[in-house]
Amino acid sequence: MILDLLLRDARLVLPDVGVMPGAVGIRDGRIAAILAPDATLPAERTIDCDGLLLMPGLVDPHVHFGYGSPETDYETEARSAALGGVTSVLSFHRTADPRETLPGERDLAVRQSCIDIGFHIGLTHRLHVETLAEVAGRFGINSAKLYLQYKGQAGLSKGFTEIDDGLLYQAMLETRGVPGGVLGVHCENVEVIPALRDPLRRAGRADLAAWDEQSPDFLEAENVHRVGYFAQKTGCPVNIVHLSSREALEEARRHRRRSRVPLTVETCPHYLALTRDAAAGPLAKVNPPVRSQGDIDALWEGVLDGTVTTIGTDHVPRKRETKREIWSATMGLPGVATLLPVLLHEGYHARGVPLERIAALTSANAARLYGLASKGQIAIGRDADLVLVDPDLERTVDPAALESFADYSPFEGMTLKGWPVMTLLRGRVIARDGAIPPDVREKPSGRYLARGA
Ligand SMILES: [Zn+2]
Repeated sequence: MILDLLLRDARLVLPDVGVMPGAVGIRDGRIAAILAPDATLPAERTIDCDGLLLMPGLVDPHVHFGYGSPETDYETEARSAALGGVTSVLSFHRTADPRETLPGERDLAVRQSCIDIGFHIGLTHRLHVETLAEVAGRFGINSAKLYLQYKGQAGLSKGFTEIDDGLLYQAMLETRGVPGGVLGVHCENVEVIPALRDPLRRAGRADLAAWDEQSPDFLEAENVHRVGYFAQKTGCPVNIVHLSSREALEEARRHRRRSRVPLTVETCPHYLALTRDAAAGPLAKVNPPVRSQGDIDALWEGVLDGTVTTIGTDHVPRKRETKREIWSATMGLPGVATLLPVLLHEGYHARGVPLERIAALTSANAARLYGLASKGQIAIGRDADLVLVDPDLERTVDPAALESFADYSPFEGMTLKGWPVMTLLRGRVIARDGAIPPDVREKPSGRYLARGA
């Protein structure tokens, strides 16, 4: 057998297993051989990895491509992801009728993206819930997300009038009927927020901490409790997306103790690294809010003990000019390019979190949860989606170098230790030394990720 590519002298990071010296042989876009580090199998091309870390390409299960520039986001944000070592993303598709919009969106994504892309369905209307099974069958989408932050009054400005506990319950029943189905829920009790927000605004507060104080941890935890309870009654696997606080994490643990219905937890790099006193100010405005140092510490404990299942970025690529003042600023922040450096810096270097744990949470677990059978492992037969990482490379986050439509980063100016130096999608080098190769710009080769049995 002649390999297309041999990556020799690497340290392979095997999710939840460990780190071992090795070499990886690639043929026809898949991993064809795992060998001793100094192996010399015949190959068209050999890359010497100089003992650097080779991880499975990251699977970011939570991005919002299309919220920056809908015409070009799949191009720019996929490049930004590739720079960060992310080779697969699942983006939220939220339209009036996904059955009509998905074919066009899928074509646009595949035409523009240099990484693989799949979708979740955003549930904001009864129609979305009623068509879940049909959409799963036609488009290979077995995950959806219900937005409790647009419940009742809070949804009116966006035209969402049907989000209530009844819709949550019905979504669970429908999701349960979808093979491999999982329902993501944004947990935040928005009905209480005005009671907390109005006094803050009257007092003239306009700092990032005020954003946390208007929607404190217990509003998130209350929703996690309720969602967990309904999940227990309906038997629907649920995923608490972007969990941000110690209080809510505790609630997730309690649910797991009393129920056999799977409840998974996703957190985000900003909840693992930024406090409400962060220098980023309104640039770090996001829902749920960034919290306190105690919450950061608790979430890292959750990463270590398995309470946290996956890490997604909740990437929203908008411009800095939309993030000037806390109350009027847009929600969300960009993060795909900095996901791995933040985790290596804050997790591996600062807290001694094992690399295999970081790999599990950023690739294997997401692949398993969302039915991406060819992703998430360095194993024979899997797609050769890989990222070569220099754990000791220090670089200061500069948004201008991150290829995103967003012209800021909540981590800008921070010097992080541990960066990707090369990213491969099915054996093709799609990023190297912090740049996208010209051939990838010209001819991106991302594919659509259809899921479900
Ligand atoms: Zn999101």
